[in-house]
Order: sequence, then structure tokens, then C-alpha cells
Amino acid sequence: MRDFYEVLGVSRDASADEIKHAYRKKARQLHPDYAGPESEEAFKEVSVAYEVLRDPQKRREYDMGGASAFSGAGAGDNFGFADLFEAMFGSMGFSSGMGQTRARRGQDLLRAVEITLEEVTFGVTKDIRLDTAVVCETCEGSCCAPGTSPAICSTCGGSGSIRTVQNSLLGPIQTTIACQACAGRGHTIPHPCPECAGEGRVRATRTLQIQIPAGVQDGARLRLTGEGEAGPEGGPSGDLYIEIRQKSDSRFSRQGTDLHTRITIPMTTAALGTVFSLETYDGEQEVIIPAGTQPETEIVLKGLGIGRPTGRGRGNLRIHIGVNIPDDLSADQRNVLEQLAQERGETRVPPPDSAAGPLGWLKNKFGA
Ligand SMILES: [Zn+2]
Ligand SMILES: [Zn+2]
Repeated sequence: MRDFYEVLGVSRDASADEIKHAYRKKARQLHPDYAGPESEEAFKEVSVAYEVLRDPQKRREYDMGGASAFSGAGAGDNFGFADLFEAMFGSMGFSSGMGQTRARRGQDLLRAVEITLEEVTFGVTKDIRLDTAVVCETCEGSCCAPGTSPAICSTCGGSGSIRTVQNSLLGPIQTTIACQACAGRGHTIPHPCPECAGEGRVRATRTLQIQIPAGVQDGARLRLTGEGEAGPEGGPSGDLYIEIRQKSDSRFSRQGTDLHTRITIPMTTAALGTVFSLETYDGEQEVIIPAGTQPETEIVLKGLGIGRPTGRGRGNLRIHIGVNIPDDLSADQRNVLEQLAQERGETRVPPPDSAAGPLGWLKNKFGA
């Protein structure tokens, strides 16, 4: 029997990842389905080496003299996997029935998705690319090389646990611990799938189309059940969470389902009224500013706001009107306004010359 490290072509201090990659490479080259029946022995050898070295516990035991314990058993014999373990670790004999596989669930994933305020307004469909674990297509999550199946764990007889009875002063104490040979699974994988190295899942990039509803809140998390990482060894998938990040918009802001924007018009326009065109998410809209519009008037365009998350109706688009009072009047413009004030009978006390300071202002104010 060759040294397991030699069989896989890795050094004795190889990491778990290096071992896995070495196995995948060898298993692909040697699998009888690809390389023909004459490679079967070599494939088995690689599978056995990997089955031991992938498991930290077994690897330790092997490093501590497992090879010599095994060397007498006849290299190149057509051994069964249980025989190998018996030779290496002592014990045990088969019993019938597989232990329950306690399938572990895949991890949840969290992805942030940026959307514009316009996309919030109408809802949007986005393609999300995920680099994640998916179920291995070769073994469909069974972890076994095609045409092979799991073997009942010979250490625990398939129960996944080891029961020991110790005698104490108070009588026998029974303890049950998870079987270390199979990590409580009740079975082992004699021929791990070459595609996924016996994990039942592989990394892949997949694209997912997600529907983001209108009216979604900034920071909200949408949960997509079962779209997370595939579980190891055929375990159920985790969930995918999509966290919404709303980009800010220079033209509109948001309050609930209402959109807000601000338009500043000249003083004369406010007094005389106007009509103008506003570019909205629903295209150009005609906005009428009636004569005599006061500063901070709100003009409401009904139903042009953000879609409600319930799917029924939309909020409003609210236009806040600011009025620009000129602070750079020419002498002529000033005269026009003075005339207007006179015409309207609007009397006023002129403000002090700014150069005159507070005292000048007092003189003006009280006519002193
Ligand atoms: Zn596989
Ligand atoms: Zn076991």
C-alpha cells in the first residue's frame, strides 16, 4: 500500500484544501467512467487515501502510525473499504441499517442591491449574480461517485453514535457520543464524487432574477427562501437576503410614498403666474403656478408618487414653491418697484444705509 500522501501527490503538511484539490484532480483523471476499467484500482487507491486524509481525526491517526498498521494487509489486494478501516483502526463488523443523516443547512447569504428612486417608484426586476455553493450535478448531493453508494459506518454500525457504559460508585453510567469515524452520520463515503470531492456541492456562479416591489424602504431586507448556499452533503439550502440601498436623487426626495421636489421662481412670476413643464418619472408634466402664489406653496400632482408596497395605488408628487426675492436691483429696477409700491399705496420706512450702522438704523426707525 502506497503512502496516502504519495497517492494524492501532496506533502505531509498539506492543507485540507490542497488535499481536496489534489483528490479532485486525480479522481477526475482516474475515474473508471472516464479512464476505463483498468484505472479502477488506482481510482480506489486515491479514494481511500482521500477518505482518510480529508478527515482530521483519521488523518491524525494515520500520521501516528496508520501506514505501518496497514502495511501487512497486502498492497494491491482488492480490499473493501470496511476492511481497510478494520485493518487501520481495529474493531468492528457491520450491522444493518443506516443512521440518519443529519443534513446540515447551507449558509444564508446577504447581498446589497442599489436601486434608484425611480426604481423604488415603480418596482424593478434585477439580475443578481451569486458566487455560491450549489448542489453538485454529478452526484446530486449524494457525495458518492457515480454508480457507488454510501457504506454503513463500521465503527458505529450505522447509528451515528457510540454508547459506553462506565461503572461508578452510583452504578453504571451510560454515555452516548457522536461516532467520530463518521462524524455522527452513520455512513461513510467509500468513493467520494470526483466533481465535488465528496461534499455534495460545488462553487458556481448563478444568476438570479429578483423582483423588488415598488415602495420598498431603504435598508429593507427581502428574504428569498432557499436561494442561499446549498447545504453540504445534500443538506437544505440557506436563504438569500437582499438588502435594499436606495441611491439618492438630485431632483426628488422621498417621504413615505410621496415624492418631493422644490422649484424656485422669481418674485414677479409668483405674482403674475406661469405654466411650465416638469420632468417627472412619468415623463413631462405641465405645472400651473397661479398668479399670486405665495412662497412655500405646495403644488400636488396626484398619483405621481411612489407605488405602494401593497400594490394598490401610488403616493403624490409634491412641488414646493420657493420665491426668489432679487437682492441685486439696478437703479432702474428699483424705481419700477418704488412706483409699484406707490401705486399700491404701500408705505414703508426705508432701511438704514448699511454704512450707518445701528445708530443710523435707530434714527431712521424713529425719525430722529
Ligand atoms: Zn458530487
Ligand atoms: Zn459511525
